[in-house]
Amino acid sequence: MHILLMGPPGAGKGTQAERLVKEFGIAHISTGDMFRAAVKEGTELGKKAQACMQAGQLVPDDVTIGIVRERLSKDDCKKGFILDGFPRTVEQAEALDNILRELHLSLKAAVNIDVPEELLIERAVGRRICKKCGSTYNIKFKKPVHEGICDVCGGELYQRADDSEATMKNRLAVFHKQTEPLIAYYQNNGLYKKIDGTKSVDAVFDEIKAALQ
Ligand code: AMP
Repeated sequence: MHILLMGPPGAGKGTQAERLVKEFGIAHISTGDMFRAAVKEGTELGKKAQACMQAGQLVPDDVTIGIVRERLSKDDCKKGFILDGFPRTVEQAEALDNILRELHLSLKAAVNIDVPEELLIERAVGRRICKKCGSTYNIKFKKPVHEGICDVCGGELYQRADDSEATMKNRLAVFHKQTEPLIAYYQNNGLYKKIDGTKSVDAVFDEIKAALQ
């Protein structure tokens, strides 16, 4: 199974990707997570990505395509994969088609989790993540039992630097301009599946599974 998950920032791609990975036993490839790890480690890639991420802009296509190409050649991808947050531009989508062709693979679906803008801002600005285990919370919609503390492992919760309201507005503008054209791209090749992302996590998950039948 080879799937891609698209959708605006705050649509719940990461949450749904985690569930799909468990359900289908496939690899989770999140370019956002890869960039965040590189920033934390202070690598050359991290240095290139950090300024773009903080401004809510996309990391340049050549850099992003390079890391995905390398990642897809790893052994764990042989069991299938979900691409979470890639592609985000038409150039990336075209590059992905080439990479898949070289690997003799084809996509099952391009799933778009659709959520209206006001809700996206509320979700992203309220998002909190555990420093230790990565579990996600929301100060409005999914509060931890004790403020600032992870229910799962007791770790400290933090807010992503790019989840501020100002950066979020930039990320949404970037999404409309650079990523929305992908809807037509995947409609044209028959892979596009639109999912109502306003529903509960469980309901969205069920809808995605039904779309993958
Ligand atoms: P995410 O965690 O998917 O919301 O990504 C966080 C940030 O990482 C984005 O706002 C971009 O700056 C960068 N990023 C993630 N995926 C991509 C991509 N496919 N192309 C360019 N930049 C990306």
